Amino acid sequence: MKVKAAVAYTKSSQLQICDVELADPKESEVLVKIAGCGVCHADLAALDQHIPVSLPAVLGHEGSGIVESVGSHVKTIRPGDRVVLCAYSCGKCEACVTGRPSCCEIMDDVNFGGVYADGTKRLRDRDGRELSAFFSQSSFSTYVIADERNTVRVDSDVDIALLGPLGCGVQTGAGAVLNRLKPSPGDSIAIFGCGSVGLSAVMAAKLSNCSPIIGIDIVPSRLSMALELGATFVINAKDTDNIAEKIRSITGNGADYSLETTSALITDALYCLKRGGVAVTVSAIGDTPTGIRLRDALMDTSRSLIGLQQGFSVPKIFIPKLVDFYTRGLFPFDKLIKFYNLDEINNAFEDSRSGFTIKPIIKF
Ligand code: ZN
Repeated sequence: MKVKAAVAYTKSSQLQICDVELADPKESEVLVKIAGCGVCHADLAALDQHIPVSLPAVLGHEGSGIVESVGSHVKTIRPGDRVVLCAYSCGKCEACVTGRPSCCEIMDDVNFGGVYADGTKRLRDRDGRELSAFFSQSSFSTYVIADERNTVRVDSDVDIALLGPLGCGVQTGAGAVLNRLKPSPGDSIAIFGCGSVGLSAVMAAKLSNCSPIIGIDIVPSRLSMALELGATFVINAKDTDNIAEKIRSITGNGADYSLETTSALITDALYCLKRGGVAVTVSAIGDTPTGIRLRDALMDTSRSLIGLQQGFSVPKIFIPKLVDFYTRGLFPFDKLIKFYNLDEINNAFEDSRSGFTIKPIIKF
């Protein structure tokens, strides 16, 4: 079928809105009419080729919408279902069958490899050129093909266009806290970077009754948003010589937990911890500063450093849970969002890059 999509033709260029041809869904797949798709830093990283998806490609991996039709083997999704799309996992490897799809063996190959799990692509441009896929969805498009595995049904009447970011950025931050760190009430946490991932973690830390909750960023408006969403202290990294020391002074003897979303502050995220504390990093790109001395950063101090994708979540369980928290007023992630039309997608990318908008959503 003919669909309209934003195509990334060359590295770091403007996306082009084009009429393209979308294949029919295969047996295990669903055709989704997209209502909205969040812009995530992984889309920027792919456009800039820090994530080397072969171009041309249709990016977009925080899609949400209404199911139009399903393949003959699809059991749990029906036409008319309201769905959020997430990362693909195979369902067969050791990680998948033990309930850890974010550790799926083919996670990187399929989601960043430019093809669906069967090695094929689904989109062609007017010249017949195949367009690479992203996260088995390519959701900067009016209609997309996804697999039953990465399609999450949401039984709620919340505006479906709002929910796409729950499939990646929001669950990454919230899941790091709720699924991996699992803090007890009164535990302290420092959150480095107050973009959509960090602020989702702030909301999750508030849900968990963490105290103090310390937000670190360099943009004053983001620090204000962190306070609004539940941070009890904020630190402007530009104004602070020794962030780790500052956190240690706020918490008494160091934080129980830290979450690092920026790459640049991993050293502080470790040294701000008390003995036995745990740091999580979800940074995807950028240079990691050296200068971490393993002995005093980790061994002598019994600290841990954890890497994590997709909030360690089981999306079909965790995303409906986040929607429920949202409808009960406990997780106001809509405060991060600004809507853009498809023809404004390059502005949305620019506003995401500059930090002007925390979480743009392209609304269809
Ligand atoms: Zn797997």
